[in-house]
Amino acid sequence: MDKFSLDTFQHTVDDVLLRHRSALDILTKLQESTSRVNRAVAKSITYCGCVKMNAEKQEIPRDASFSQLKEYMQNHLEGNLCEVCRDKIHHEISTNFFYITALCNLLTIDMDDMLTDYHQNHLNTLGKYGLL
Ligand SMILES: [Zn+2]
Repeated sequence: MDKFSLDTFQHTVDDVLLRHRSALDILTKLQESTSRVNRAVAKSITYCGCVKMNAEKQEIPRDASFSQLKEYMQNHLEGNLCEVCRDKIHHEISTNFFYITALCNLLTIDMDDMLTDYHQNHLNTLGKYGLL
């Protein structure tokens, strides 16, 4: 399968989205798809059990430097997604991304420009400090 560009994806979403072109439809479908992502992750823990959650307070030594923070921050997940859960979550995230793209189309936001701007002005400029 050929790799496609974000620009191609954005145009394809615009071409195929016929039924839910209303702003209200897109906003509510986006919210619904976000819930489905969260639900799929939760079900991998509570129904399948391939992943376990072990959450607790993040313990960071007072003298830790910013470059060391990543070593101390836990993601609170143990294990690996099974193939079934990975496929389900993959599908739900893809659907969520579809509606994010539809929202960008509705608002005439070029996603490539938006992400390039975010990368240059937020990720590169602010770095680790901006993501805290
Ligand atoms: Zn699973």
